[in-house]
Amino acid sequence: MSYAQRKIKQEIIIPPYEARSAVLKPGEELVIIDVDGKQVGDFVCFNKQDPKEFVSPVHMRASLSSIRLQVGDPLYSNRRRPLMTFAEDTVGKHDFFFPACDYFRYKVDYDSDDHPNCHDNLKLALEMYGLGGEPVPDPINLFMNNVLNDLGDYEINEPLSKPGDFVRLKALEEVVIACSTCSQDMAPVNGWKVTSLKMQIMEAN
Ligand SMILES: [Zn+2]
Repeated sequence: MSYAQRKIKQEIIIPPYEARSAVLKPGEELVIIDVDGKQVGDFVCFNKQDPKEFVSPVHMRASLSSIRLQVGDPLYSNRRRPLMTFAEDTVGKHDFFFPACDYFRYKVDYDSDDHPNCHDNLKLALEMYGLGGEPVPDPINLFMNNVLNDLGDYEINEPLSKPGDFVRLKALEEVVIACSTCSQDMAPVNGWKVTSLKMQIMEAN
């Protein structure tokens, strides 16, 4: 069954410079929509039953032997188990190499003391499920468009996502997820401005 035929259980808008969290049961699906286009979403995922297990980009790179995220790929945890699968994608370009932007990114690189950042926004959103005290895992940066050149160097370009583009993720376990609208407005990461994302949780079959 395509996701369009499924029933929406919950819809959550993530405003600019903020993050939101949710719980998914096994079989439920999460659609993350780039409402206006060119907006990166920093995404993290915990095993709800044991939050010491979480989706881990470094383990994903090893288990997939790749830095490219493709439809059908499992999202592997720090225990090398899949917690979700990457089920659908209308863009084809994402990142799971870079960390979330954080206080130090804006302090060190821009001398700003009070710029919003994904790390703190994710931490705040995770408090709702009692995970605000846990270290924030490295994210999957949905829609982020970094380009690796022949020398192995990265260049960060504007996202390829257009208004309405989306990814769909299927939960394999009961998971707590959080996603932030990346706060970076001083680089091409989000096309120089921060806009909303929308999450839809679809009922299981
Ligand atoms: Zn960010």
